[in-house]
Amino acid sequence: MSIMSFVSCEKSNTSSDFNYKVDAFADLEILRYKVPDFENLTLQQKEYIYYLSQAALCGCDILFDQNNVHNLRIRRTLEAIYEHYEGNRNDDDFRSFVVYLKRVWFSNGIHHHYSMDKFQPNFTKEYFVELLKNVNDEYLPLADGETKESLLVEILPVMFDKEIDSCRVNLNSAHDVIATSANNYYQGVSQTEVEQFYGALKAEGGDKPVSFGLNSTLVKKDGKLVEDIWRIGGKYSKAIEKIVYWLEKAKSVAENDQQKDVIAKLVAYYKTGDLKTFDDYSIAWVKDSLSRIDFVNGFIETYGDPLGLKASWESIVNFKNLQATKRTQIISENAQWFENNSPIDDRFRKEKVKGVSAKVITVAILGGDCYPATPIGINLPNSNWIRAEHGSKSVTIENITDAYDKAAQGNGFLDEFVDSKEDLDLIERFGAITDNLHTDLHECLGHGSGKLLPGVDPDALKSYGATIEETRADLFGLYYMADKKMLELGLLPDKDAYKAQYYKYMMNGLMTQLVRINIGDDIQESHMRNRQLIAKWVFEKGSAEKVVELQKRDEKTYLVVNDYEKLHNLFGQLLAEIQRVKSEGDFEGAKFLVENYAVKIDIDLHKEIKARYEKLHIAPYKGFVNPRYELELNKNGEIQDVKVRYDETFEQQMMRYSKEYSFL
Ligand code: ZN
Repeated sequence: MSIMSFVSCEKSNTSSDFNYKVDAFADLEILRYKVPDFENLTLQQKEYIYYLSQAALCGCDILFDQNNVHNLRIRRTLEAIYEHYEGNRNDDDFRSFVVYLKRVWFSNGIHHHYSMDKFQPNFTKEYFVELLKNVNDEYLPLADGETKESLLVEILPVMFDKEIDSCRVNLNSAHDVIATSANNYYQGVSQTEVEQFYGALKAEGGDKPVSFGLNSTLVKKDGKLVEDIWRIGGKYSKAIEKIVYWLEKAKSVAENDQQKDVIAKLVAYYKTGDLKTFDDYSIAWVKDSLSRIDFVNGFIETYGDPLGLKASWESIVNFKNLQATKRTQIISENAQWFENNSPIDDRFRKEKVKGVSAKVITVAILGGDCYPATPIGINLPNSNWIRAEHGSKSVTIENITDAYDKAAQGNGFLDEFVDSKEDLDLIERFGAITDNLHTDLHECLGHGSGKLLPGVDPDALKSYGATIEETRADLFGLYYMADKKMLELGLLPDKDAYKAQYYKYMMNGLMTQLVRINIGDDIQESHMRNRQLIAKWVFEKGSAEKVVELQKRDEKTYLVVNDYEKLHNLFGQLLAEIQRVKSEGDFEGAKFLVENYAVKIDIDLHKEIKARYEKLHIAPYKGFVNPRYELELNKNGEIQDVKVRYDETFEQQMMRYSKEYSFL
C-alpha cells in the first residue's frame, strides 16, 4: 500500500541553489529530487544501486500496456512525431501536441494518473493526421505489412472519441466495474466471471492463500477463462528478461547474503510466474530490515484494478536515512502499545503485533507506477497473511517530501486558504514535522494494525476495499497525533503541534483537494475518497456541537476548528467503525460510508475553491524526473565511482528512457 502527498503547502525560509522545478504543463508540475548522502556510500553500495536502478527502468513499458492496450502504440507514434517533425515547433497546435505527449508520459498512458479519466488532446484530429503524414514510416510503430492508415484506424478513436475507453479504473459499483474500466488487465470478461473465477481459486486457497490473479491478464480463449502470466517466456517476457539481467548484476555486488537471497527468489519468481515463489520472496524481503540499501521491483500495488486483484509494475530503489530513521524506530518499538490503546473493539485488535519495521529512506530512482508521480510512504507486502505472520516494512520517503516542500515555498497557497493568524502560525511551525509523522504512523502502524475476524475474505469490500483501508491507516495516524504519548516519546515538540495536522487535513479533505477534480465530476481515486470520507464524516457528526465549521467571509469559505479535542474524539469514533467494517468484511457498511461521504462534491464550494486556486497558478499534481547515474571507469575499464547527475529536462529524460529502456 502506498500514500500519496497532499497538495503541497507553503513553507518558510531554507534557501538553496538546487533547482527543484523542472517543468509545468496542464495540471502538472515536474520537480527534481536530491539524493543526499549518495556520495558517502561505499563504491560497492553505489554499484549495487546503479544496477538496481537499471532494473527499475526496464519495466516502464509494462505499465503502459497494463494501463491500456493502445498506450504503447500511441506513445511511440507521438514520440516519432515529436522527434521528426520539421515544421514550426512554436505554433500553438504543435505546443498543444507536445503538452499532450507530456501528459501521456506523465500518466503512463492516455488516462489522467489520478482522476483515471481519459484526457482530451487540445488539437484537432485533422491536425494530428497531418502531423503523422509527414513522418517517415520507418519511425512509426508499424508491424510488418501495416500502414499509417491502419495505425490511424486503431489510435484515432482512442485518442479523440470521448466515449471510448473513457475511464481507466471505474469504481462505481452500479456498473460492471470490469467492463467499464479501460485498463488492460481483463480481456473480454465480465465482473461476474472474474469474481467467479477467482472466488473458486480462493475457496481452495487455504489459510495462506497466494495473491490470486496478481501477475496475469485474464482472457477468454475459446469460451474459457485463462490467465496469461507475466513472466519470462510469457507475457511481457522481453522487459522482464532485461529486469532479471540487471537484478543478476546487482546480486553480484549485494551488501550481504540476505539481499542475495531476496534477489534470487525474485528472479525465480520472474522466471516462473509462480505466486507461491512470490510469497517466499516477500517473506525474505520483509525479514531484511537491517541492510542499508533496499528496493521494490515487481507487480505490487492493485489500485489500477477496480477489483484490487491485478498489480501494476513498479520499482523504487532506496537507502536508509540513518538520522531520520531514529524517529520511526521509536514508533515501531512501541507498536504494541499503539495497538493495545487504539479506540477499536477488542475483537478486532491484534494480540501480538509482528515485526513492524519502519525506516525513513532516501530514494535513488523511481520506476513504473512510482514514476513520475510517486508515493511519499510505502508499506509492504500487501498479502494479509504474510503481514499477520511475518510483519511488514514501512517507509517514509523524506527526500521526496523535502522536494515538495522546497518547491512550494512562497506559492501563496496557505495565505489564500487559511485566514486565522493562529492557524497559519501553527502550520508554519509544525506543518512539516506533523506531515512526516502522519506518514510514519499511517504506513508503519496504521496499515499493520487490527485484524480480520476468522473466515473473513480480505477482498470482501471489493471496489470499496482500497478506500476503506486508506481511511483506516489515515485515521490511525490522526487519532494518535494528538495523544500525549507523542510528546512522551519525543516525536512532537509541543502539545499543540497536532493541531497543525488536524487543520490541514480537514481543510484538504473538505475543500482544497477538490482543486484536482473537474467541476461536475465525482471523486474516484482511493486516497482522495478516503480524505473526504474522514473530513465529511467528522464534520457531520460534530455539526451539532460546531466542532468544525465552514465560515464565509468576503465570498470566501474558510475552515474553522472550534474544538480540537472533540475532533480528536471523532477521529477515534470513526476509526472504530472503519475497523469494524474491515474486520467483519461488511460490504454494505463500506458502501454506505464511501457512497455517502467520499464521492459526491458540493458544486458551489467546488467552483469557489477552483477559482481561488487558479489565481495562484499552482499545479495541483506533481511528479519527478529521476537523477541520472553515470559509471566512472578507469583505463582498465573498472568502475571507479558512480556519479549522480541532475541535468535532464522532463522531455530529455522521457525520450532517453523510451530509447534505452523500451522492450515491448
Ligand atoms: Zn496507505
